[in-house]
Amino acid sequence: MRYVSTRGTAPALDFEDVILTGLARDGGLYVPESWPRWDKADFEALRDLSYAEAAVRVMAPFTGECLPEDDFANLIADAYSGFGSDDVAPLVSLAPNQWLLELFHGPTLAFKDLALQVLGRLFDYFLARRGGRLTIVGATSGDTGSAAIEACRGREALQIFMLHPAGRVSDVQRRQMATVADANVHNIAIEGNFDDCQSLVKALFDDDAFRDRYHLGAVNSINWARVMAQVVYYVVAALRVGDPGRAVTFSVPTGNFGDVLAGYVAHRMGLPIERLIVATNRNDILVRFFETGAYRIEEVVPTLSPSMDIQVSSNFERLLFELSGRDGAEVSAQMEALKTGNGFSIAPDRLAAAQAIFVAHRVGEDETLAAIAAEWKENRRLIDPHSAVGIAAGRACHGSSDSPLICLATASAAKFPEAVERATGEHPALPPQLDDLMSRPEHCETLPNDLAAVRAYIAERARA
Ligand SMILES: *Cc1c(COP(=O)(O)O)cnc(C)c1O
Repeated sequence: MRYVSTRGTAPALDFEDVILTGLARDGGLYVPESWPRWDKADFEALRDLSYAEAAVRVMAPFTGECLPEDDFANLIADAYSGFGSDDVAPLVSLAPNQWLLELFHGPTLAFKDLALQVLGRLFDYFLARRGGRLTIVGATSGDTGSAAIEACRGREALQIFMLHPAGRVSDVQRRQMATVADANVHNIAIEGNFDDCQSLVKALFDDDAFRDRYHLGAVNSINWARVMAQVVYYVVAALRVGDPGRAVTFSVPTGNFGDVLAGYVAHRMGLPIERLIVATNRNDILVRFFETGAYRIEEVVPTLSPSMDIQVSSNFERLLFELSGRDGAEVSAQMEALKTGNGFSIAPDRLAAAQAIFVAHRVGEDETLAAIAAEWKENRRLIDPHSAVGIAAGRACHGSSDSPLICLATASAAKFPEAVERATGEHPALPPQLDDLMSRPEHCETLPNDLAAVRAYIAERARA
């Protein structure tokens, strides 16, 4: 399998180089040259496999020749061995024909673990084989940071620098990052919002000399491995709720468009999906896009679901590439229009193509609290505010469809105790392994929203 850039001019690479490269040299994102196509029998063959076994099968078309199957199977089994559920991603019932896909049983209690536990091991595997190291630089709205740090901590070949918006992540999220004491972990709080953090990381990658000198690598969902590993739970969940001939609907709490893009990949592989519901909070650039075809940035507003307080969804570029008929020049022009502030619109026929599979819905703060309260009342289950956005949007958009509705639960309630307590009066407890989280010492540097300052900080600590 070869990979091409969404901006059309970077060299095509194989899986190994794509994973180690992260962002393409032309500023684009790597996508497979073509989508693998599965038929009903291919999906059906996964039915009796464990999650880890199914994961190897679903990802194999994407890894190609780069990974011998035995090595890959061992790597995946190891990645998921630390999950608090044998199922890895258990499905529980919400209501008749409505399901909750629990993606928060990994070490940092959010769905990011499902992909990052794989990615950290892929880095290790490839770097050990070729000899070399990476300086991981990432931006986080909260959950990517801890999941990436957990996946990379203590790994010889990696240094990790994680930027988060100062004061805009929850206490639990910050502590999960900052209390990690390994010497290869560097937390940076930026005086700005998440989009500022993401722009700083992009700017570091755009600086070829810096990028080459420090061997920058990416753990954000611009890294294809993130999307690839997430495809697995769409496939596994769809098989669990029905036969592979029956289309299902997924509702996906969305920020950077990485998670729901994986659903789109499953759809392109042939998994019968009726609808992908793009659930957002008040930061609704994607809702406006799917309604009108216009992609325009507005101010980021803080909400109860901070991991989705994003305007510029980096992975959205991968969908734009598909909608343009894989026209890298057009995507470049769109991204340039976005950068210079005007935004852009897509043609009506392309919007119609997007609307054939995606529908988007915005969920307000009161509705989010109401969804948390309702789930507590009906099922005595505490859900986090991101998952609540997904459930509320799912119910609003599913209408009279009789397809099974699968809502993705992206974080454990324990990560967002304030919102959960406000909605239910109940305080969700942290799991035992995080018992002393609130009393461990923190390691974090605060820096201004300034590229030179961040560059200097990294240069001092990374290994050239
Ligand atoms: C990251 C995150 C999201 C958004 O996922 P994207 O892939 O960025 O769309 C939703 N919920 C939680 C809890 C998250 O951590």
